[in-house]
Amino acid sequence: MSVVNGGDKGVVYLVGAGPGDPGLLTLRAVEVLRSVDVVVYDRLVGPQVLEMTESLERIYVGKGKDSHAVDQDSINELLVKLALQGRRVCRLKGGDPFVFGRGGEEAARLAEAGVDFEVVPGITSAIAGPAYAGIPVTDRRAASSFACVTAHQRADGPTRSIDWAALVRGCDTIVVLMGSSRIDAVVADLVDAGLASSHPVAVIESATLPGQRTVEGTLGDIAARAADAKIGSPALIVVGNVVPLSGKIEWLSKRRLHGVTVMVTRDEGANGTLSGILRSQGAAVVGAPTLRIQPLEDESVLDASISRIGEYDWVVFSSISAVSYVFKALKRNRLDARALAPCRVSAIGPGTAAALEERGITPDLIPDRFVSESLGDALVSELRPGSSILIFGALGGRTELADTLRSAGHKAALVPAYRNIPVKLEPVHLAALEAGEVDWVAFTSSSSVKRLLDAAGGAKGLPPGTRIACIGQTTAATAESLGLTVTIVAEEHTLDGLASSITKEAGPVPVS
Ligand code: SAH
Repeated sequence: MSVVNGGDKGVVYLVGAGPGDPGLLTLRAVEVLRSVDVVVYDRLVGPQVLEMTESLERIYVGKGKDSHAVDQDSINELLVKLALQGRRVCRLKGGDPFVFGRGGEEAARLAEAGVDFEVVPGITSAIAGPAYAGIPVTDRRAASSFACVTAHQRADGPTRSIDWAALVRGCDTIVVLMGSSRIDAVVADLVDAGLASSHPVAVIESATLPGQRTVEGTLGDIAARAADAKIGSPALIVVGNVVPLSGKIEWLSKRRLHGVTVMVTRDEGANGTLSGILRSQGAAVVGAPTLRIQPLEDESVLDASISRIGEYDWVVFSSISAVSYVFKALKRNRLDARALAPCRVSAIGPGTAAALEERGITPDLIPDRFVSESLGDALVSELRPGSSILIFGALGGRTELADTLRSAGHKAALVPAYRNIPVKLEPVHLAALEAGEVDWVAFTSSSSVKRLLDAAGGAKGLPPGTRIACIGQTTAATAESLGLTVTIVAEEHTLDGLASSITKEAGPVPVS
């Protein structure tokens, strides 16, 4: 990312982060997050969206548990100051920045200060929240208009500046934001304004987040129902005849991994391959990487091998990361995929093959079983005597493949392209594990099993109900040898295969 460059003019992006589900970020929001160097964010920005900003400087300006939020003037001045320092700033807000987000005030101050800014609208919780509960805000059968209001008030007294009577007369669906802690007052206002106490209402908590909950009722009983269910923050209220449509349309709980929490122990980077597949099935994913993929400290050996790559008969890529770091090295050395033209190319499995194909290389050989030993056997049967093979992998990675090739009389060079750095498990992740909140732990390598168990104090640190999913036999063998009972080994030893094995085992087929 770019650093502070005093001379250059800064810029501020006022970005809507959506209601929480990272899949609801806009493409422009993601582009902005990739291009800025500092993020100024609020309490309502979803935790998984925040994970995407890990490499950036982050400034929190939301409310703390016991403290007050940073006041609006100070936020405005902070944005101006950062921009005048030449920083590229993402001002990240929950939902849409201009729907009760005070984005308008920030934009006005930036304009006044002559700072360049761009507004990136977001998906508002007022529409997406009901949608995730199976409630369309309009529907030809039930509502032809909707309004979004706030029940927030400055001081004690009636809800500020809302003409409830006009609202209920003129509008079918009413979405109330910032109203869940004052639900009694909101209900009273609506009944006073003329709505029947049998009028349908829903309260949706943590919409689009893993813990989403909905309570439905009527104006007459919703306050008591929400209190019984201990509905907390953030939550929104939907009022109108669209609410009962959820009976047919509610879809979230039908996904096969709904209500299932999976801990993913691999470094998913920004793309979140495994997490993404699991989330799309409805799982709550706890990202608890035990290793992080990093560039090598000294890339001279890698660069030297890149410059002689065409001299090898075969080039083998032993992971997706190997592909990405080798291509970075090619670029650094002002080369590209054509450097591989004289060689035959092999990938350890379909994921790695796909990464090569994305870069214009179709591998000549992918073994049937996706483990390095079988790649060795497959290669040996293909090689002419005395072949030379260049294998790209992780620093300190497995050597079996090179050993197999050498003992078959070939010349094998094992060149690290990146390294895995051990990372400590976050205390919250460990606590979730120990408390039995994690239904499944997914392991994609032996080292991740070892590191997780080190942090948890051995297999006994995991409650007996925790189910274990492993990508392949080698990982499973390590898990068993350390005292874990492996619930499933992926039928196909890929991230896709692992995700679908978990889904098959964990999720009942939904009844439609
Ligand atoms: N700009 C935001 C709204 C900010 S006001 C948007 O467009 O969504 C804050 C209120 O929004 C909260 O008090 C709550 O009523 C609602 N809200 C925001 N995110 C929510 C979520 N994930 N689930 C339920 N309500 C949410």
